[in-house]
Amino acid sequence: MLQSLQLVQPKTVAEASGALADLGEKAKIYAGGAELLLLFRNGLLDAEILVDVKRIERLHRITSGDGMLRIGACVTHHALEKSDLVRAHAPALAYAESQVANVRVRNQGTLGGNLAFNDPHSDPGTVLLVHDAAVTIGNKNGERRMALKDFFVDMYATALEPGDVLMEIEVPQLPAGMKSVYQRLHRYQRPTLGVAAGVCKAEGVIADLRLAVGCAGPKAERLNELETTMKGAAFADAGKIVAQAKNYLRDRLRPVDDLLGSADYKLYMAGVMLAAAIEEAGREKNGSGA
Ligand SMILES: Cc1cc2nc3c(=O)[nH]c(=O)nc-3n(C[C@H](O)[C@H](O)[C@H](O)COP(=O)(O)OP(=O)(O)OC[C@H]3O[C@@H](n4cnc5c(N)ncnc54)[C@H](O)[C@@H]3O)c2cc1C
Repeated sequence: MLQSLQLVQPKTVAEASGALADLGEKAKIYAGGAELLLLFRNGLLDAEILVDVKRIERLHRITSGDGMLRIGACVTHHALEKSDLVRAHAPALAYAESQVANVRVRNQGTLGGNLAFNDPHSDPGTVLLVHDAAVTIGNKNGERRMALKDFFVDMYATALEPGDVLMEIEVPQLPAGMKSVYQRLHRYQRPTLGVAAGVCKAEGVIADLRLAVGCAGPKAERLNELETTMKGAAFADAGKIVAQAKNYLRDRLRPVDDLLGSADYKLYMAGVMLAAAIEEAGREKNGSGA
């Protein structure tokens, strides 16, 4: 099967999109191949041509300026984990990237491939939601930008249309004084649960807060209503407020039973880990995920 695949290697997004439009259902975008080749090997995907987007130089850049980190879709997890720019601008993202699978997958897999595949058991998307990240999508007609929260449509489903190439991920700096962490629960390589928190603490009060949970249900979610409830509350009451939000978490996260854990377990652990992540992010000195 793999031997019979043809490879097209465009140098620009417009060329890649043109090839996808010309070749239709027969062609699939190929980046690191960490997911794609597994799907082919297991007979879960049918294609004749791979449109390899790794020759597009623009998709490999990591830049920062004006409070914005810009990550090309073909940057690998390993490069993100090691990048000084990412560590300085979004340390919880660097930490999340260091937790992805194993060194082989981190060297092969790209951030763009991870987000475009939108497997529910993924790490980076959860942290990126706390940063209010946005994505740039290109095709042969031009480019468009959208919030990452709108890009994630459902389990394995995104806002990408046929012929679209995910080009860049924009990661705005967190508000001044906000510290962030990512915490991850795993039994196997893929996470059972991922929790990201950004906290601004002032005189024992939660002045500002951002929360996201991934892996529990179909897609990673920001917890806007819980954030609103908790803003202005005493930092010491954070765990109690999260515990009272169990019904909200169930509705928002829509946890499912799967091989990595039952829905009840994920819901319970989401509460435990949210409280722990808020506590860690609110400390004067942040821990591992900060
Ligand atoms: C054993 C294993 C363990 C893993 N563990 C984890 C983990 O712990 N945490 C985690 O977050 N992830 C995990 N992953 C997922 C891994 O992060 C992704 O497989 C990888 O990032 C996908 O990137 P890729 O470049 O290899 O994508 P590919 O396999 O090349 O492509 C994946 C999909 O995205 C599409 N695509 C790729 N790039 C683009 C683009 N620029 N524009 C539009 N569509 C595109 C492809 O057409 C395909 O449908 C694991 C994967 C494996 C195989």
